[in-house]
Amino acid sequence: MSEDCIFCSIVAGDIPARTVHETDDVLAFLDANPLSRGHTLVIPKGHAQHVGDLDDDLAGALFAAVTELTPRVQSAVDADAANVGINDGAAAGQEVPHVHVHIIPRFEGDGGAPLHAVGGERPDLTDEELDAVVDAIAG
Ligand code: AMP
Repeated sequence: MSEDCIFCSIVAGDIPARTVHETDDVLAFLDANPLSRGHTLVIPKGHAQHVGDLDDDLAGALFAAVTELTPRVQSAVDADAANVGINDGAAAGQEVPHVHVHIIPRFEGDGGAPLHAVGGERPDLTDEELDAVVDAIAG
């Protein structure tokens, strides 16, 4: 638990939330400022800011909850689809520094955008640059 973390306060029961799912490791609740009807956040109960900070067990529990909840959330609000995503770090738009997966129900013609819309200007990378990226990631 982190003292100043709003999501840790929700886990502790100090701040109310509209909980839709809870296990020993994971909590899911409605987003307070929904981007669409049914917008749900899934969080690990233990505090971690970045996805890379999660250990394998917690990452597994989190993703298991996401895979279980995504169709349930869609079905609950009769959505046609969903965007599932994480803002990982402030530069990516993360405002609450506690890992949370957004499940955002989507509806035909809702005027929204795909996850591709989150990127900035698209890079024009050479083959050499792409190879360098592969080497850097693969290690
Ligand atoms: P992000 O920009 O990915 O960090 O998203 C944080 C999300 O948390 C936003 O969609 C907020 O609407 C949501 N949020 C912030 N405070 C609360 C709260 N107390 N209960 C539910 N959702 C919250």
